[in-house]
Amino acid sequence: MYNDEILIQGLEELGLAPDEEKLTLLHRYYERMIATNEVMNLTAITEYEDVCVKHFLDSLCLVKAIPSDRLEAGMTIIDIGTGAGFPGIPLKIFFPNLKITLMDALAKRVRFLTEVTGELGLANVGCVHGRAEELSRTDGYREKYDLCVSRAVTRMASLAELCIPFVKKGGALVAYKSAESGEEIAEAGKAISTLGGGAPEIVSFRVPQSDLGRSLVVVRKEKLTDRKYPRGGGKPMKAPII
Ligand code: SAH
Repeated sequence: MYNDEILIQGLEELGLAPDEEKLTLLHRYYERMIATNEVMNLTAITEYEDVCVKHFLDSLCLVKAIPSDRLEAGMTIIDIGTGAGFPGIPLKIFFPNLKITLMDALAKRVRFLTEVTGELGLANVGCVHGRAEELSRTDGYREKYDLCVSRAVTRMASLAELCIPFVKKGGALVAYKSAESGEEIAEAGKAISTLGGGAPEIVSFRVPQSDLGRSLVVVRKEKLTDRKYPRGGGKPMKAPII
């Protein structure tokens, strides 16, 4: 049995209905993640209430940047460097109409994602093994998504090059950053505009039921990305556009 008091209050703060079916899916996801964490590194956070706040509620804070009704309408979304499935899986559980691609460079994590999304019966979920800077050069992925999300993968200037090529013109990147990311975001200005992004909008708040500061960096895509991006050979990380 789980004590869901914190989770339920947090969901309500976000304007999300904590219905039984969704809570059950979160419980099953938690169980599977913790069991798999014994044999591979998925998360450093394992206590149930910590997972509720730092993984589930934090992931769902996307609603602070993108209105729920747009997520409910079923956008196409890609989660770059999703790891154990954050923020993508909680978003898919609460917004079942999303067509979501969970992508990660580590094959064993992608195997976990395929298994757990299958067990939870989540439809319209693609689990893809690859590196963002390679995948976005292929036609099936380039400029195909309404929304790209990413949490805890790399600094903003590098992330812009990894993520913006996936986004359709008129779509957006939402990067989950810490509250103290002002400098990092300012540094990314050149990369963002070079890749076709507009001026970033920063939405700052505290994650519900915690004192954790969070900034969501929202970058609308205004122009198509020049074919020369993203660069190969690890350049987006080693030599970001700054
Ligand atoms: N987003 C998750 C995991 C963060 S850890 C969370 O917030 O909990 C960073 C993840 O990004 C790792 O799983 C790593 O394999 C993946 N990653 C790092 N560089 C990547 C790249 N270039 N392309 C795809 N995935 C990448």
